[in-house]
Amino acid sequence: MKKPFDINLAIKLISEAVRPFPKAAMFELAEAGFNSPFEQLIACMISIRTYDEISLPTARKLFAQAKTPLQVSQLTVEEIDSLISASTFHERKAAQIHEIAKRILDEYAGNLPCDSEILLSLPGVGPKCANLVLGIACGQPSISVDIHVHRVTNRWGYVKASTPEKTMTALEAKLPREHWIDINRLLVPFGKHICTGEHPRCSTCPILDMCQQVGVKPQ
Ligand code: SF4
Repeated sequence: MKKPFDINLAIKLISEAVRPFPKAAMFELAEAGFNSPFEQLIACMISIRTYDEISLPTARKLFAQAKTPLQVSQLTVEEIDSLISASTFHERKAAQIHEIAKRILDEYAGNLPCDSEILLSLPGVGPKCANLVLGIACGQPSISVDIHVHRVTNRWGYVKASTPEKTMTALEAKLPREHWIDINRLLVPFGKHICTGEHPRCSTCPILDMCQQVGVKPQ
């Protein structure tokens, strides 16, 4: 018999459990000083469909050459492409990053505003990256749902949603606001190392007694 799901306790236990693991990429970059909305946005785009082990050094490589909209706009698309070539879909991302830098210069005087509508109007930017920027760089409560957050919160039985976008809507209706930024920070390492895609480590999981283990096959 499972206990009722207690989100506050789950967050506390998971934050202790993930302490030994590397931080989620965007949070690690922010702590290293790459914490402007523009840097967070570009790093998030580089990370799309790309492992953190690749996307982190790739973002650092680009930022070593250019990390403001002005500096990035002064690179050619080919130069950006060469700097981010380790990232998946780098050619398309290079063109989008260049266009974003130019638009921020032309339309927002070189400063990317902390505004969801503006972020989502930029090429290649979806709700996941927009909300990470708002949460990490702008300090605005926002929920960023990647594949880990989607998988884990559905396994808990906390939400029941078929896509990350629907999970985001369901979490916005249910998750206490004080956890909105942390849910991504915690569930990315938790999903990578404990509640993994194929064989979640339920027997050693700190919230086994309250998780519904939805869709988890017995091992
Ligand atoms: S008990 Fe299993 S399914 Fe539930 S959160 Fe822990 S690892 Fe994931």
